[in-house]
Amino acid sequence: MSKRKKRVIDTAYLTKVAVLSAIAYVLYAFAAFPIFPVFPFNQLDLDFSFVPGLLGGFSLGPSAAIVIETIKHLIKMLTNGSNTFYVGDLSNFIVGISFLLPASLYYRKNRTFKGAILSLVIGISIEAVLSCLSNYFVMCPLYGQFAPVILESDVRVLFSFAYGLAFNLIKSVSSSVIVVLIYKRLSPILKLDGQKIKEMRVYGTTVTHTAEETEALGIRLAKRLKGGEKIILDGDLGAGKTTFTKGLAKGLGITDTVLSPTFVISKSYGGDNLTLNHLDMYRLENEGETETLGIDDMLSDNKAVTVVEWNKLNDLKGRVINVKIEYTGETERKLTVTKRDEK
Ligand code: ADP
Ligand code: MG
Repeated sequence: MSKRKKRVIDTAYLTKVAVLSAIAYVLYAFAAFPIFPVFPFNQLDLDFSFVPGLLGGFSLGPSAAIVIETIKHLIKMLTNGSNTFYVGDLSNFIVGISFLLPASLYYRKNRTFKGAILSLVIGISIEAVLSCLSNYFVMCPLYGQFAPVILESDVRVLFSFAYGLAFNLIKSVSSSVIVVLIYKRLSPILKLDGQKIKEMRVYGTTVTHTAEETEALGIRLAKRLKGGEKIILDGDLGAGKTTFTKGLAKGLGITDTVLSPTFVISKSYGGDNLTLNHLDMYRLENEGETETLGIDDMLSDNKAVTVVEWNKLNDLKGRVINVKIEYTGETERKLTVTKRDEK
């Protein structure tokens, strides 16, 4: 990776992580409500501070979730101190990571609404197990140093498997509910794997896991076009040819909605610098028709790029880019982009 590219990634990534960490800290330190007022459980507060970690984990990757959760705790410890000698903070940190990490790892490969729900269920389940273990074996002995009552075996069991567990689950479940409620609104961001898109290369083979990623590859190809290119899209019905073309259009600065031109054969859209001609040759009967339909002029226009679905022309001249899209799973596509120069 070149130095320049790396710097761009780091700045955008760091800014987002910093903002999300700050919000997490504010929610954690200032928007917490006591839920168990009775000693020794009176340190148990409800807060929604997993929301930024989840959003970061979903949109920026598992490492972002860990960084956000860590910074949230570090700022809290440095500025607010602790009235549990940091035992509560340590517990919250372990439990938080055991929730956020599995959730964002699962969502990374399942970037749909269903995937989001499942990732939260998986995260909460793993958290539940780890919460009990960490409460019983780590937190109780530590808490016991200054609240000996917790070392009495029935209190210890009650704390670990009832109060402590319930407390941790209430927090992660309530943050999850909020993420589910705002998911639809944020899905364009969440469905994009920011890290992956930045590292995606236009030419060669790319496996995408959402329509948004396929669109993103189209956007990136568009940024490299100079005019005069013919882009041949090859893929079965439902592969993602129109989705890819939508990306090309966005990348060229076109705001109109791009639809499959099956019944009109061709459609043109004006972009910032280049025109996008979208052709569907499925209903084209013979090569001779291209002249009467104006297709020949489109193909030779150096101020335009022409995207062709169901290409029927054998002798395309100039810069030709082939995009092969293969359906490899319900939401997985394998895209292979190659270019050639025809004399
Ligand atoms: P085509 O034009 O090749 O017939 P479309 O782009 O119209 O295909 O449709 C592709 C469909 O597949 C869309 O409904 C899109 O949301 C869905 N889809 C799911 N996953 C992907 C993916 N990774 N890439 C592209 N499309 C995807
Ligand atoms: Mg189509």
